[in-house]
Amino acid sequence: MAPLSHPLIQDGWFREINSQWPGQAMTLKVNRILHIEKSQYQDVLVFESETFGNVLVLDGVIQCTERDEFSYQEMIAHLPLNSHPNPERVLVIGGGDGGVVREVLKHDSVKEVVLCDIDEAVVRVSKTYLPHMSELLSSPKVTVFIGDGFKFLADNEGTYDVIITDSSDPVGPAESLFQKPYFQLLHDALTPGGSISTQAECLWLHLPLITELKKMTLTIFPKSEYAYTTIPTYPSGQIGFMICSKDAGRDLKTPLRTLTGTRYYNNALHSSAFNLPEFGRSMLEDN
Ligand code: SAM
Repeated sequence: MAPLSHPLIQDGWFREINSQWPGQAMTLKVNRILHIEKSQYQDVLVFESETFGNVLVLDGVIQCTERDEFSYQEMIAHLPLNSHPNPERVLVIGGGDGGVVREVLKHDSVKEVVLCDIDEAVVRVSKTYLPHMSELLSSPKVTVFIGDGFKFLADNEGTYDVIITDSSDPVGPAESLFQKPYFQLLHDALTPGGSISTQAECLWLHLPLITELKKMTLTIFPKSEYAYTTIPTYPSGQIGFMICSKDAGRDLKTPLRTLTGTRYYNNALHSSAFNLPEFGRSMLEDN
């Protein structure tokens, strides 16, 4: 059988060339291609890299690597969960690799997690090639539902204490997950006092989008804050989250418990993740 080939891998290097980050591209040395597929929704590529372990790429965009995924999964999960007094029922939208579900299950109070990803191919290939991320998808506390997150929310009013949207970027199937009707559905699917976090892009690349997201979420939630993490394989090495609560009195920045078993998140970092560099702070807080 001829070796697998992919247009974004040339001379043994994967290049993440994309109009969402013009003029720059993350490049990773490829040991071997593990999987190529056109799913119903997107181009799915998995390769083994020389220095970042296995890498999942959707529509040409890096979604996670085995070496640095924990900095993203831990922060998008623990910021909303560890500032909520008693999260029991949790919904994850997107996140078919299972990394966020793994983190949610580190909270003793959590009784039930539902994962809703639009693409069964992501769940399937992650079970094969990203076992450390996907291993807890088979936990008895977890239900995996394949379908559009937008539609799923509309059928589940007042159900979840925390909802985490671990989506891909706002082009392709995740486009609707960055728009106002989606945030209204998130709000309505929460129990009283519930919180959300959503993937909210990079300060260096997407400040106008983040500014609009913050303004828009504040028309729906009384509390909304942007926090961020550092991660080498996302564009410009930084990605953030909108953390919102239905409770106007909720202090999102102060952790309520001490977690064990994390590699990036700790209580000091929880609070400091909301402190923004001045170019971001002034856009998000003074406008
Ligand atoms: N952490 C990653 C990032 O920032 O690049 C995202 C990882 S996760 C694999 C993204 C997932 O969102 C994909 O598996 C994709 O299938 C899923 N997704 C995209 N649009 C969706 C939608 N409308 N409903 C549910 N899941 C969706």
